[in-house]
Amino acid sequence: VFNFSPGPATLPEPVLRQAAAEMLDWHGTGMSVMEMSHRGKEFISIHAEAEADLRELMGIPANYKVLFMQGGAIGENAIVPMNLIGRGGKADYVVTGDWSKKSQKEAKTFGTVNVAASGEAGKFTSIPKQSEWKLDPEAAYVHICSNETIGGVQFHWTPETGNVPLVADMSSDILSRPIDVSKYGLIYAGAQKNMGPSGLTIVIVREDLMGHALPITPSAFNYQLQAENDSMFNTPPTYAIYIVGLVLKHFKAMGGMAAIEAHNKAKAKVLYDYLDASSFYKNPVNPADRSLMNVPFKLKDDALDEAFLKGAQAKGMIQLKGHRSVGGMRASIYNAMSIEGVQALVAYMKEFEAKNG
Ligand code: PLP
Repeated sequence: VFNFSPGPATLPEPVLRQAAAEMLDWHGTGMSVMEMSHRGKEFISIHAEAEADLRELMGIPANYKVLFMQGGAIGENAIVPMNLIGRGGKADYVVTGDWSKKSQKEAKTFGTVNVAASGEAGKFTSIPKQSEWKLDPEAAYVHICSNETIGGVQFHWTPETGNVPLVADMSSDILSRPIDVSKYGLIYAGAQKNMGPSGLTIVIVREDLMGHALPITPSAFNYQLQAENDSMFNTPPTYAIYIVGLVLKHFKAMGGMAAIEAHNKAKAKVLYDYLDASSFYKNPVNPADRSLMNVPFKLKDDALDEAFLKGAQAKGMIQLKGHRSVGGMRASIYNAMSIEGVQALVAYMKEFEAKNG
């Protein structure tokens, strides 16, 4: 099938095959990775290799720690302010959709939150221009969501925040394109969209930002304690780290970030070009802010939604239903989605339009 799920999402087939082959006996140890002690040499090698490959792929500078945590991105909505807002007690949030709105709401428990810009008046169909942002130069950080998974808007530029660290929820576009990590103070992402199974949260944090956690911060969610313990202050999600490690090797074999970005751009173009040429389907997002990862679209008449989904399913195209808050359809086309998958979707959309348009 072609699986267009927003997450947990489709993963590269060779990775799943390798994991299946190694399921009962990893590299002759007689153990499944699931059965290994996280402190044993076997798992430590898996963990270290995953971190090294992530550093290489993303070009993570040496003064950043990579943490493998739990709690998901929604957990980070609290964990980020608990660790960072102590530097002054206030933070700026840029609200570009449902996910950043949720982040902003959660942060209010831990300090003063300023909404520096919001796309809500325009129904989150565009990213507010930076010239319109009201940033506080004394904020502890500025928070953005680089790709709004539900609304399908994505930053195609990096905000300039001066000395105020930029924090980004990259759950749905991490590893989809090259980025300059040094422009960010902290990046976090749940693994289950573009890099592996759920249960693992990646945090990339500049070292000087740690050490200011609020006293209420649980130890397992204290970045500094986790960094000092190589993400093993508590038992890390070992199997998820192993799968992410295999996915990272696969991304390296695909040619790294520049090649992956080209592949993602080519896929998204096939779908957006068709949407723009059709009067039967509509994507509401400002073209300059469209997501290369999540493409929401509506049919001319929502009474046809069910028939559209049923027909897609019959052709092996699954999980295309839009988020319940916006309705319509959404095609999530992360790294592991092939161009053939997107071409098959467009062919089906054309056929459906010809029959029902
Ligand atoms: N942030 C973004 C951008 C997301 O797409 C999601 C997806 O579910 C979340 C946060 C929530 O992640 P989790 O459910 O892993 O906490």
